[in-house]
Amino acid sequence: MVKLADIQQARDTIYDVVKETPILHSSQLSALCDNNLFLKGEHVQTTGSFKIRGATNKVQQVVEDGASSVTAASSGNHGQAVAYIANQLGVPATIVVPEDATTSKLNAIRTYQAKIETCGTTSAERIPRAKELAHKTNGVFIPPYDDPLIMAGQGTVGLEILGQLKDVDVVVVPVGGGGLISGILTAIKETDPRIKVIGVEPELGNDTYLSLQKNKITSITSSTTIADGLRTTQPGSLTFPVVQRYLDELVLVKENEIKNAMYMVMERMKQVIEPSSAVTVAAAMNGKLGITGKNVCCVASGGNIDLVKLGSLFTE
Ligand SMILES: *Cc1c(COP(=O)(O)O)cnc(C)c1O
Repeated sequence: MVKLADIQQARDTIYDVVKETPILHSSQLSALCDNNLFLKGEHVQTTGSFKIRGATNKVQQVVEDGASSVTAASSGNHGQAVAYIANQLGVPATIVVPEDATTSKLNAIRTYQAKIETCGTTSAERIPRAKELAHKTNGVFIPPYDDPLIMAGQGTVGLEILGQLKDVDVVVVPVGGGGLISGILTAIKETDPRIKVIGVEPELGNDTYLSLQKNKITSITSSTTIADGLRTTQPGSLTFPVVQRYLDELVLVKENEIKNAMYMVMERMKQVIEPSSAVTVAAAMNGKLGITGKNVCCVASGGNIDLVKLGSLFTE
């Protein structure tokens, strides 16, 4: 199991690439949420999401251990993060993307000089291909969440919150495969277990919610939520036990609640956050946290959204 010391070690190695992101406060959203609301601004992180934290921690290590290339199977934030850090370290990267990946995402990966290979439409097709490519080239496949170095890297978000918001009562975190929340849980609960940590999933991507209910890893068939970073169909085998052990609560939000939260954050705070981030604000705005008058820190996990798509979300 990942320990606090692993996260502290990650902190000591990733900050040449990773930024300490700001904490933002909004009195208007605080009033709407009946809590004192803060955002942890990973939408302004290098590559536009927290994924660069885990990717940097992992890729630096495998390169130090002799890997001569890396691969990943994601057109989203993880793919961008792996492409970016590989380019920084001067190591070739191949990112395996689905046939229907959007041009804006492919362009971001290209900007970071990675090779793009197209394969199928599902991660079940992409992951074996990315592993095979790694195998052929003395490379290493970089998983998106189910890996101790990835989890430890993501956990540095938790260390930053502890340092920046001394009197935080509740931290609210989006849950996909569980890399981010398992890292944050380890950082926070092994430092100050009185701080509550609440996870949020879309109703349309409730695999961790179901897994907690059944007390074992449970899959959903597929997910169509607009929160594309949370479309995983089951929690990880390393991340889920951490969630089971430490998580205070997991709440669900609806698609229109996610959209509305994005809208409010843009309108009131002038910040562009992607749907996968907005689930945390959606939970706070719709009374799902079950608390009032507390210092609540919502993790704004990323800000990567195609602007044309963003517009189309609000034109009906
Ligand atoms: C990947 C991602 C998540 C979910 O993180 P997991 O580690 O898979 O739980 C949340 N928000 C954004 C913006 C992401 O890119």
